[in-house]
Amino acid sequence: MDASSAANASEAAAETFDVLIVGAGISGIAGAYHLTQQCPDLSFVVLDSKDTFGGTWVTHRYPGIRSDSDLYTFGYRFKPWTSAPIATGAEILKYMGEVIAENSLARHIRYRHLITAASWSSAENRWTIEATRLDTGEPVRFTANFLWMCQGYYRHAEGYTPDWPGMADFRGRVVHPQTWPDDLDYRDKRVVVIGSGATAATIIPAIAKDCAHITMLQRSPTWFFTGRNVNELADMLRALQIDETWIHEIVRKKILYDQATFTRRCVEEPEKVKEELLSAVRAHLGADYDIAKHFRPSYRPWRQRLALIPNGDLFQSIASGKASVVTDDIERFTETGILLRSGSELAADIVITATGFHLCVLGDIDFTIDGTKLNFADSVTYRGMMFTGVPNMAWVFGYFRASWTLRADLVGDFVCRLLKHMRVRQAKRVVVALRPEDAEMPLRDWIDPENFNPGYMMRGMHLLPKRGEKAEWQHTQDYWAEKDAFPAIDLDDAAFVYA
Ligand SMILES: Cc1cc2nc3c(=O)[nH]c(=O)nc-3n(C[C@H](O)[C@H](O)[C@H](O)COP(=O)(O)OP(=O)(O)OC[C@H]3O[C@@H](n4cnc5c(N)ncnc54)[C@H](O)[C@@H]3O)c2cc1C
Repeated sequence: MDASSAANASEAAAETFDVLIVGAGISGIAGAYHLTQQCPDLSFVVLDSKDTFGGTWVTHRYPGIRSDSDLYTFGYRFKPWTSAPIATGAEILKYMGEVIAENSLARHIRYRHLITAASWSSAENRWTIEATRLDTGEPVRFTANFLWMCQGYYRHAEGYTPDWPGMADFRGRVVHPQTWPDDLDYRDKRVVVIGSGATAATIIPAIAKDCAHITMLQRSPTWFFTGRNVNELADMLRALQIDETWIHEIVRKKILYDQATFTRRCVEEPEKVKEELLSAVRAHLGADYDIAKHFRPSYRPWRQRLALIPNGDLFQSIASGKASVVTDDIERFTETGILLRSGSELAADIVITATGFHLCVLGDIDFTIDGTKLNFADSVTYRGMMFTGVPNMAWVFGYFRASWTLRADLVGDFVCRLLKHMRVRQAKRVVVALRPEDAEMPLRDWIDPENFNPGYMMRGMHLLPKRGEKAEWQHTQDYWAEKDAFPAIDLDDAAFVYA
């Protein structure tokens, strides 16, 4: 078959849906649920390159994999969470599987479909999506009026590992947690974990007892907070035999209220908050431990995501002597370990690079709008979910300081309301555009580094759309405000241009 007849065959085989959801992670499954509930007459399909649902919770299979925020808010608003707040990856997948089964969502999901291109035609008012079936290698084509991007924010295939001098000389094994090998034998080995984010803080207590020794090597410290992995309010309400639906609602509200208070305190009284966080660490490690060096970052709490250390397990591993912390810079790798700027050398059999992600915008999909390649960074975001110049498309980009899923539910309501509104207006197309009053608005990077500055965002900022100074034209990262603002969005505002 020549190229043009192959293209024709694929054209003939194109399946058409009202909505196409990219990704069957926690956001894509939320999208599918909200469509079935709020727009039951719309046809839709969910495509994912993996062979199952779960996204993040399938990719990350390192020992101890768990949430770093509570599942009362990381869980959906429509399905009660009934266990301990911090959950394992397996528990999250079980919960998502129940959502899929209880709402008959499986029939809408196609796995092993890698989407490679999406092109918008204003003449036809539709997207054409090119994908490859990873099981057969066959190219497949879909068309859809609306594209719902739930592809997350990082490249699933590989994590980010800096290129340190001498890495090729190292005779041990270097492993990124995102691609954890099934055969990694760390028993009785000297392990160094580079990094001190939530991933390092999870892996270390999970494997410390089996290693000869494990060292957390950090360039600079991270703020952590510790607490028991229980929610006392939930447990009390359960003891009172309150219905789980009520418990879910009440506990979510309480957690969100506490988080909003905490976030405000981090700005208004950072020194007090710092002392509270440090005294919790001191309670585990004792007064003689050099907490100022290893656990007192220079940045204000919440400028990077704050991970909860359930039951202080990371600190317990350190207190037991099985784990230790080194705060230093890497000079280079050697054959037997890592040479530090201070001159000392860390001997290692295994180095785990818990050094973060590659930011990935729009799922590494080639986007064109009416034949012109889309440069996403040229667009301006409407509330972090729609983009100027990109018709009929929404992206779920969750919260950093609150649970991601809170926003997946909010965006879900918004998209369904927008789709219904388009039908009422008999519109086939909607695109957001700056209004006359926005013309002079200065445009800035997607996120303010003074406000939030994790490495993968800083490395990838040039790939992301711009934000304006008004709340409409930015991702505010403020659930407390958005929970009221989103349902009140006037869909006839001049920012929405229909055709
Ligand atoms: C280890 C870890 C722990 C985390 N813990 C928390 C937490 O406790 N709380 C919190 O709020 N957030 C947490 N996060 C952030 C987390 O990524 C999000 O909360 C959430 O899981 C993201 O869900 P998602 O569905 O938007 O994206 P993802 O989980 O990234 O899923 C996206 C899906 O889209 C698919 N996809 C992408 N591109 C394509 C393509 N081109 N073709 C086909 N399919 C494609 C992928 O295969 C994937 O299945 C954590 C992140 C990590 C890495």
